[in-house]
Amino acid sequence: MIQATKTINRRGENLAQLLYQEGIREQKVLQAIANTPRQLFLPEALQHKAYQNTALPIGQGQTISQPYIVAKMTEILLSGASPAHKVLEIGTGSGYQCAILAQLFPEVYSVERIKSLQFQAKRRMQKLDLHNIKMKHGDGWEGWSSKGPYDAIIVTAAASSLPQALLSQIAPGGQLVIPVGTEQQTLKVYRREEAGISEQLIEQVRFVPLVPGDLL
Ligand code: SAH
Repeated sequence: MIQATKTINRRGENLAQLLYQEGIREQKVLQAIANTPRQLFLPEALQHKAYQNTALPIGQGQTISQPYIVAKMTEILLSGASPAHKVLEIGTGSGYQCAILAQLFPEVYSVERIKSLQFQAKRRMQKLDLHNIKMKHGDGWEGWSSKGPYDAIIVTAAASSLPQALLSQIAPGGQLVIPVGTEQQTLKVYRREEAGISEQLIEQVRFVPLVPGDLL
């Protein structure tokens, strides 16, 4: 399905072009953005805004992330010391980020705390013929330890503090990309290196909060 839309998704290509101008240079990421029908991840009334570079509401007080930040975080995951095989996403939401990851990495795992969002996201993956994804309804603050460790972990909601369980699920040489903060949020990258865990600050961001526990 994604392959079939490739030649006709002109709006996707325009969005990828815009992201290039915003500084995204990794061709594989731009290609995945161009190929992915973002309108499928939105409520019908907002589908006409699908190719704008903005976050949009998806119900339950949640949002689909801005394409720029999806591309930026994915670019970081691709820049790891060695190619990532197994990737964990926390905050499935609409499933858009997950669909991008599934086109670039062999094995994708994704955790969402709101059951109805997780259910819809799962159906979208089937519709797009993306079968290298495993999804779980659960508390992403705890990660998904039974499937780990992961070469890359991406958190698409802002954590008030760094979840220790996620740090412990990074494989040697792997990395965790996560927005940290409440009012002021900073996108951070943690890498498991031989000498220990390193931290890098990327830029200021704005995400919905990563809520611990309390599944809905
Ligand atoms: N990656 C998503 C962005 C969704 S917004 C997309 O591409 O659409 C962030 C999501 O994180 C929301 O769906 C929210 O319900 C979820 N979330 C918040 N706290 C969570 C937690 N502790 N565990 C799992 N998911 C969580």
